[in-house]
Amino acid sequence: MELYRLTERIWYTSYEEERDRPALGYIKGDKFSVAVDAGHSDAHLNEFYDLLRKENLPLPSLTIITHWHWDHSFAMHCINGISIANEKTNEYLKDFIRNRSSENDWKFLNLDPSIMLEYSGGREIKVVPADVTFKDKLTIDAGNEKIELFRAVSPHTDDATFAYLPEEKVLFIGDAISGVFPTWIADKDKTREQIKLFEEMDLNWIVGGHWEKWDKQGLIDHLKETL
Ligand SMILES: [Zn+2]
Repeated sequence: MELYRLTERIWYTSYEEERDRPALGYIKGDKFSVAVDAGHSDAHLNEFYDLLRKENLPLPSLTIITHWHWDHSFAMHCINGISIANEKTNEYLKDFIRNRSSENDWKFLNLDPSIMLEYSGGREIKVVPADVTFKDKLTIDAGNEKIELFRAVSPHTDDATFAYLPEEKVLFIGDAISGVFPTWIADKDKTREQIKLFEEMDLNWIVGGHWEKWDKQGLIDHLKETL
């Protein structure tokens, strides 16, 4: 895994297809640091934290969860500090926890080969809900660095949170532009709504879970091609 510096205060990691590990974001405020997504497992998260330590960056006090999917949220049990997600994301996580059984854990591991690989060697599945929830939007001040969280329309899931850094015009979107797992079919009306949103926003860079970063026009062009 690699850590890339995007702007003065923002970093993000590489993503990996084999174990379906998404890019993780990092924002350094003057008061505290914030991560975007926790990762697939404790192993994924610890690799991320090792990269931060190597760069002498403080571990995040707060971790924002972009949507409930395992590869973004299941490392939440071992994060430094606390986690934050929208209410819908937490409902999905609580449902998953409520429905756990050896049979359902087996079904989860068999959803996709990348999950089986992440959990190979008998790694335990540990799922916890977020510590803090919000309804529609929330602003965090990490110390001269504002982070605006808001619920966004998405053809991927109905619990997408976007994290916008207005000073640096960077937007973290998780997997929100994808279609539905595992068919990847995207509702075109929702994609059109997203294009409109991106067109209206002041954006330099957009960072998603499983892609290279985009500039504003690059993302809009990419989405228009899918229609
Ligand atoms: Zn996802």
